[in-house]
Amino acid sequence: MALKTADEYKQSLRAMRPNIHKFGKVIDDVTTHPATRWTVEGHAQIYGAQLDPETKEMVTTTSHLTGDPISRYLSIITSAEEQIANSKMKRLMFHKTGTCTGGRCAGWAAINSLWATTYDIDQKMGTDYHERIKKWLIGAQARDITIAGALTDPKGDRTKKPSQQVDPDMNLHIVERRKNGIVVRGAKVMICGVAAANEIFILPGSAYKEEDADWSLSCVIPRDIEGLTIVEARHPNDTREMEEPESFDSPVKNGGITQAYLFFEDVFIPNERVFMAGEYAFTGEAVINFILPYRAAIGGCVAGQGDIKLGAAVLTARANGLSSKVFADRLTQMVINNETTYGVGIAAAVMGKQHPSGVWMPDMLLSNVNKVHVAKLPYETSIIAQDIAGGIAETGCMPSYVDFNDEKYGHLIQKYMKAAVSAETRARAARLVEWSTVGAGVPGCMHGGGSPDGAKMFIRLSSELEKSVEIAKRLAGIKEDLKDPAPKK
Ligand SMILES: Cc1cc2nc3c(=O)[nH]c(=O)nc-3n(C[C@H](O)[C@H](O)[C@H](O)COP(=O)(O)OP(=O)(O)OC[C@H]3O[C@@H](n4cnc5c(N)ncnc54)[C@H](O)[C@@H]3O)c2cc1C
Repeated sequence: MALKTADEYKQSLRAMRPNIHKFGKVIDDVTTHPATRWTVEGHAQIYGAQLDPETKEMVTTTSHLTGDPISRYLSIITSAEEQIANSKMKRLMFHKTGTCTGGRCAGWAAINSLWATTYDIDQKMGTDYHERIKKWLIGAQARDITIAGALTDPKGDRTKKPSQQVDPDMNLHIVERRKNGIVVRGAKVMICGVAAANEIFILPGSAYKEEDADWSLSCVIPRDIEGLTIVEARHPNDTREMEEPESFDSPVKNGGITQAYLFFEDVFIPNERVFMAGEYAFTGEAVINFILPYRAAIGGCVAGQGDIKLGAAVLTARANGLSSKVFADRLTQMVINNETTYGVGIAAAVMGKQHPSGVWMPDMLLSNVNKVHVAKLPYETSIIAQDIAGGIAETGCMPSYVDFNDEKYGHLIQKYMKAAVSAETRARAARLVEWSTVGAGVPGCMHGGGSPDGAKMFIRLSSELEKSVEIAKRLAGIKEDLKDPAPKK
């Protein structure tokens, strides 16, 4: 099959078994249900962009396996240029949807991670995982499917490894090994864009040792596989369906994010979809191979988010009668923040190297530095946008669209909300600031792609402290040996 249209994509979701729930009810059709349709609409725009001559180049590429045109999200990233294209595409998708399309980017990083990891497992263990993932990927490219990525386990007590937990299900694990596959039990949580996904790529949540071999697993499953129950989390998007279509309360109409809880009750996964089943020594590598492309490119995603905050902040200033020049310094800082995360991600791509499997792995130090920036700078950008917009952009400080148009008192709201331009224009600009700084337009800058503490651990491990000490010693003319004092007993 060639690249799908947005309609064909939605049809593929409608054909799936309903196993997603929210507010106590099963969702029969994710493409129309209020809780899920916005994330589907957002992801559908990727399919639209594939066939649009203006954006086609950015969101598609050529399969290195078949030579066919494919979605970039289903490609193996084999060069720095392709990793840079990853950052650019994420920025573009934020501009198009006003929010996150996380039902694709985590899945994409998972594919690339296991492409490299299965290669290494096979080299050492004589397994055939790489051939399995290759066959599956050729099929996935041909079907042009959307794949979410699931690493995060509930984890239970954070100080204990999976095998030490009181409840072994706190991390997804193998409960039975059959000749033709494995049976798994447990959960994955906070998984982005599952409602918009055809399949879910599963990775181990952390690096494990021998005693945790049963928790060391990777596979890819249809989203509607038997035994999998999905519950969507409550979200600021939830009120959107109560609004009239022309309402400005939720300013973005064709995008939205969802986070899902996935409950696996003895789910059978056939061998051809299993890419790791007990090879604990490779779990750390699988996680690292995921975070490198993910943490490099997330800088592009939040830069796209920052572009919206920047534009919305200027609109609110102008609506108040103020020139953007009044805020020149603050606006410049917003640009600096956006380009820092974008630029460090690009640098991580350029400084990367090729894994023997062909995957381009961004630089460890720079990818993780970027994750730490991503957990900080967008929040600073949000503060500036809210500062410029004034109080009405903060949650709870502006009447609803319904009240704005009320027969009895709507004219009063409009009279007193009017500034240099109409009250409605001012309200729309302010709502976009609210959306992009505290609303549904804000994806997980802090914990999405892992916590900043985890990134700092990798930064500590990959930074060359002693090399810097030697440089400083030489420049200072110090001859004496200066080591860290031994820890006190
Ligand atoms: C918007 C959003 C989208 C997401 N999308 C996805 C997705 O698509 N796929 C996916 O797999 N996951 C996803 N996640 C989950 C994300 O990867 C996790 O939130 C992240 O890895 C942190 O895990 P946690 O939430 O369990 O926090 P915790 O692990 O509980 O961490 C909380 C804090 O405790 C610290 N901490 C944890 N353990 C220890 C310890 N042993 N010692 C000392 N400190 C500790 C951490 O550093 C952190 O500061 C998403 C999250 C968000 C917010």
